Amino acid sequence: MTETQPAPPAPADMPPVSANTYSREQLHEKACIICGDAAGELVPAGHVKVDIGDGTHLTWPVAAHPGHAGGRS
Ligand SMILES: [Zn+2]
Repeated sequence: MTETQPAPPAPADMPPVSANTYSREQLHEKACIICGDAAGELVPAGHVKVDIGDGTHLTWPVAAHPGHAGGRS
C-alpha cells in the first residue's frame, strides 16, 4: 500500500551553483552532497553543475548517503 513518492529533484536537475556552495570533499565524492557528512556509506547521487565564475560550468559527480536518495538510482 506504499505509494511511490515523487523524488526530490536530483542534483543534476539543479541550476549551476556557486563554487563556494559545496566543499572540496563534497565535490570529490568524499562527503555527502546533501548533508556534508563524510561518515558512513556514500552512493553516487548524480552530478552538480558548479559555476566557476568565468561563465563556465563544471559538472562534478557527487555522492550522498543512501537515505537521501529517495529510491532513485
Ligand atoms: Zn548525508
